[in-house]
Amino acid sequence: MLLGLFAFISSLTYAQVNYSLHDTERHRLDAHVQIYIDDSEKLSHPDILKNDIQQQFINSSGDLQFGYSKATIWLKFSVKKTTSDAEWLLELPAPFLEFVDFYQLQTDSTWSHHESGYYRPQSKRVISHTSHLEPLVFGSDSLSHVYIKIAGRSPKTFPVYILEKEHFYQKTRFEDIGYGIFFGILLVMFFYNLVIYLTLNQINYLLYICTIVCTFFIFASATGYAGKYLWPEYPDLNFYAGRLSLTVITIFLAIFTIRFLEVKQYSKTMYYILYSLPFLAIITGVLTATGIMSSANNNLISISTLVYLATGIVCRLKGNKTANFFIAAWSFYLVGGLLLTLRNSGVLVFNFWTTHFVEIGAVLETTIIAIALGDRYRRYKEEKEEIQLQALQLQQEANERLELKVKERTEELQQTLDTIKLQKEIIEDKNAELDAFFYRISHDLKGPIASLLGLNTLATMDIKDELALDYLNKHHSQVERLNQIINGLINLTRLNNATLQREAIDFEKLINDCIESSRSLHSFEKITFKRDIEINATYHTEWTLLNAIVQNLIENAVKYCSTVNPYVHIYVKTDERGLNIKVKDNGAGISEEYQSKIFEMFYRASQHAQGSGLGLYILKRSVDRLQGTIEVESKIGEGSCFTVQLPPL
Ligand code: ADP
Repeated sequence: MLLGLFAFISSLTYAQVNYSLHDTERHRLDAHVQIYIDDSEKLSHPDILKNDIQQQFINSSGDLQFGYSKATIWLKFSVKKTTSDAEWLLELPAPFLEFVDFYQLQTDSTWSHHESGYYRPQSKRVISHTSHLEPLVFGSDSLSHVYIKIAGRSPKTFPVYILEKEHFYQKTRFEDIGYGIFFGILLVMFFYNLVIYLTLNQINYLLYICTIVCTFFIFASATGYAGKYLWPEYPDLNFYAGRLSLTVITIFLAIFTIRFLEVKQYSKTMYYILYSLPFLAIITGVLTATGIMSSANNNLISISTLVYLATGIVCRLKGNKTANFFIAAWSFYLVGGLLLTLRNSGVLVFNFWTTHFVEIGAVLETTIIAIALGDRYRRYKEEKEEIQLQALQLQQEANERLELKVKERTEELQQTLDTIKLQKEIIEDKNAELDAFFYRISHDLKGPIASLLGLNTLATMDIKDELALDYLNKHHSQVERLNQIINGLINLTRLNNATLQREAIDFEKLINDCIESSRSLHSFEKITFKRDIEINATYHTEWTLLNAIVQNLIENAVKYCSTVNPYVHIYVKTDERGLNIKVKDNGAGISEEYQSKIFEMFYRASQHAQGSGLGLYILKRSVDRLQGTIEVESKIGEGSCFTVQLPPL
C-alpha cells in the first residue's frame, strides 16, 4: 500500500519522461518541459513537490517567453540518456536571469539544490560560467529528474538546453572568441577616441568615449562576462553596470547627439526632445532601481534609439551631411535593440539574432560613429585650412596693394624731393646772385658813404652856426647808420661765400678784441666786463664765424646795457659736448613775444634799438654753418643771456 502510494507520488513529482537524449550533442528542451507559474513568488521546492501544485504543472507549448513577468517560474522535466558514457550539462544561456535554482533527484532519492543567477556570486555556482549550468545526474534507470526555479525582475525569455559536455565547451570557446572580438573592438574604439580627444581636446570625443564605456559595461554585464571575470563575487554590481548605466548612456548619447549634429541649428523640435531624454532617463532609472518598473530603462533605450535615428534623418534632410553616418549607425543599433526588446518582452523567441544582433549593432554603431567623428574632424580641418588659405590670400593681396601704394608714394615723394632740390638749387642760385648783388652794391656804396662821412667831418670843422651844426650831427648819425648797414651786408655776403677753414682759437685774445672793438659804443666806459674762460683742450674752428658770433653778442650786450651798474659777463667753456659760450647782461631785456623773431633779418625788437637788425641774423647764420645751436633767456628790465653751443671738433 505504502509502496503504491510512493510510486504514485513519484509519478507526479517526476515528470513523465518527455525527452530522450539520443545521439546528437545539443538538445533544446523548451517544448519538452512542464511549467508552473508561482504568482505568490513564495513557494519552496518542497511546496512544489506537493500534490496540488504538481497537478497544476502544464506542458510547455513551445518557446519559453514570459517577458517581464514578476512571477516565479518553475520548470520540470525528466530526460533519459541513451549512451552510457556521455556527460550532459543543463544550460540556461540567459545570463540576465536574476535567481536560478536547480533541484535534481540524486541516486539516493534526495534532491540536490544548486544556485545560479545574475545576482549570485560565481562561487555559489556548480560551474562558474556566464550561463547558468547544472551537470545532469542520471539514475540507474538512465533517467534524470530536474526542477528549475527562475525568480527575479529581469525579462524571463530564455531557452533551456542540454548539451554533451565536450560540445558545450566547444560552443563556449566559440562564444568567447566572438565576445572577445566584440569587446576588443569596443576597447580599440575607446583608445582610438581617447588619443583623438587628448590631441584635439574636443568635448564631443569625451562624450563619445563615455558612451563607449557605458556600452562596454552594459554588454559586459548583460552577457555575463563582467559577472564572471570582473566582479565574480560582487554580483550586485551587475545591477549598476547592466541596468543603471542605461540611464547614464542615455544622458551621454542625448548630449552627444545634440552637439555632434548641431541639432539646435537644424531642428528646434528635435533639440527639445533630445533635451528631455536625460530627465526621462533619470525617472526611468529610479523606476528600474526601485523595481516599480524593471523594464523602464530598457524601454527608454528603445525609444531614444528611435529619437536618435529620427534626429539624424531630420538633420540630414535639413542639410547636415555628417548625419549620413549617424543614420547608418543608429539603423543597425535600432534593429538590434528592437529585436532584443521584443525578445525580452516575450514577443519574439530567444535565438541567435534576437540575442546577438544588438551586439553586432552596437559594434557597428560604435565604429560608424567613430568614422563620422573622424569625418567631421576632417571637414573641420579642411574648412580651417580653407579659411587660413583665404586669410593668406587676403593678406597677400593687401600686401601687394600696400606695396603698390608705397611705390606710388615713394615716386610722388621722389618727385617732390626732386622739385624741392630743383627749387633749392634755384634759391641757391638766386641767393648767390643776391649775395653778389649785395656785395657789389655794398662795395659801390662804401666809397660814397666814406666821402659823405669825410665831408661831414670837414663841414663840422668849418660851420659855426649852431642850428647848422645840429643838422650836421643828425646827418652824421644817419650816415653812420647807413655805414653800419653796409658793413653788415658786406659781412653777411662774406660769411655766405667763405669756405670753412679751421684754426686753433685763442679765446682770451678773441674776447678781448671783441670787447675792444665795442669801445666806440657810447655806454662802453660804464660797463664792467667779467670773463670766465675754461678751456681744457685747444678748440679748432672757423675764426671768422666764431668772431662774428662773439662780436655780435658782446656788441648787443653793450648796446642794450643797463643804466645802473651795467655789466657784461662772458663765459666760455669746452667739454665733451663741445664749446659753450654764454654772454649775459643786466640790460633792457627782450619781451618774450619777440624772442623767437630777433634772429630774423632786419628785425629789431624795440623802437629804441640802435642797430641795423642784421647782427643776430648774421650770428644765427654763423651758428648754423658751424652746426651749433643758440638759445636766449631774457626778461624785460632784468637782462638777457645768450647761450651758443658748438659741437666738438
Ligand atoms: P640790432 O643791430 O638792431 O641790434 P640785432 O639783430 O643785433 O639788431 O638785434 C635784434 C634786436 O634784438 C635788437 O633790435 C634788440 O631789440 C634786441 N636785442 C639783441 N640783443 C639784445 C640784448 N642783449 N639786450 C636787449 N635787446 C637785445
